Amino acid sequence: MTVSQRNRTLTTDVAIIGAGPVGLFAVFELGMLKIKSVVIDTLPAVGGQCTALYPEKPIYDIPGFPSVDAADLIKNLEEQAAPFDPEYVLGEQVVECTKLASGEWELVTNKGTAITAKAVIIAAGCGAFGPNRPPLAGIEQYEDTSVHYMVARREDFRGKNIVIAGGGDSAVDWAVSLAEVANKIYVVHRRDKFRAAPEMVSKMQALAETGKIEMVIPYQLEALEGDGKSLSAVVVKSMDGTTRALDAQHLLAFFGLSMELGPLATWGLNLDHSHITVEVGTCATSAAGIFAIGDIATYPHKLKLILCGFAEAAHAAHAIRGIVYPDTAYHFEYSTSKGVPA
Ligand SMILES: Cc1cc2nc3c(=O)[nH]c(=O)nc-3n(C[C@H](O)[C@H](O)[C@H](O)COP(=O)(O)OP(=O)(O)OC[C@H]3O[C@@H](n4cnc5c(N)ncnc54)[C@H](O)[C@@H]3O)c2cc1C
Repeated sequence: MTVSQRNRTLTTDVAIIGAGPVGLFAVFELGMLKIKSVVIDTLPAVGGQCTALYPEKPIYDIPGFPSVDAADLIKNLEEQAAPFDPEYVLGEQVVECTKLASGEWELVTNKGTAITAKAVIIAAGCGAFGPNRPPLAGIEQYEDTSVHYMVARREDFRGKNIVIAGGGDSAVDWAVSLAEVANKIYVVHRRDKFRAAPEMVSKMQALAETGKIEMVIPYQLEALEGDGKSLSAVVVKSMDGTTRALDAQHLLAFFGLSMELGPLATWGLNLDHSHITVEVGTCATSAAGIFAIGDIATYPHKLKLILCGFAEAAHAAHAIRGIVYPDTAYHFEYSTSKGVPA
């Protein structure tokens, strides 16, 4: 995809593609070396897989945290990056990456934002996430206002009637969690078995017994009713053709996320099975000035773990320092000596 129109241009030292845990930590590592960054992500919120796939699951192998919920880890990483004032470009996919005559790189998003940077860090995980949309007529016009594929803030649903569709962990976890704030929740699923943690399924069933949640099973989504912006009802259809209009202002559709390497695959970087091959110790790719870290980067004996991605962020930041400050000698300093900006 080539984007002809530029709606705005941002200039920075480093453009980071991907606001997952590793991209967020790269902001910190760059910031400690006085390097500014812009972070771009297809998703409307930061956090990558942690936010999109398992926000309420505890992670046990982050050094120094015996247990930390994925959403809390992301909150902490955002807070750790904040003193360095990163600019976030969310809800936009980077589709082009071009080397300019000046030697800088220009990234362009599908929404026409151009970012010029001295170096690029690709922290794109398994590629860009996209929700699997239910095939409902006119669904696009309700997206972001009434139809959602992830929950950024529970408070947005306080006092509302919500239809949650799907049968996996996300559907069940959010039904239980939002039952604390919503007025009414309908869980729509096409069969009575859920592919989710049994403990959470039991909690959801207990809430159904209190009337806080209504199980609408076996039904499938059929249509949306509303004024073209705000929903008033979600129409569902049973296997025998019976339809019901559920009085709801929001639909949360959890049918999984599709992941694809997408445009990154066409940028001429050396790849190995849809991963970008990098040099150990710098995370440099086959293109000078482009680095790759986190799940998308590969090298012999690579482990796809957040903690490995954090170390890769530090390696890439130190390698990039020489690009941003070519004429300044570098003296290694610990964070305990340097501190962080107030
Ligand atoms: C259920 C589950 C449990 C897990 N448990 C653990 C665990 O206990 N410990 C552990 O260490 N790891 C765990 N992981 C793995 C961990 O989540 C990943 O290693 C980590 O998320 C990788 O971080 P990342 O920043 O490299 O990529 P991601 O988190 O995948 O983030 C990449 C981001 O890049 C964005 N992106 C991609 N392409 C583009 C583009 N062209 N333009 C704009 N944005 C783009 C994507 O939208 C995404 O938000 C688990 C994973 C899952 C699914």
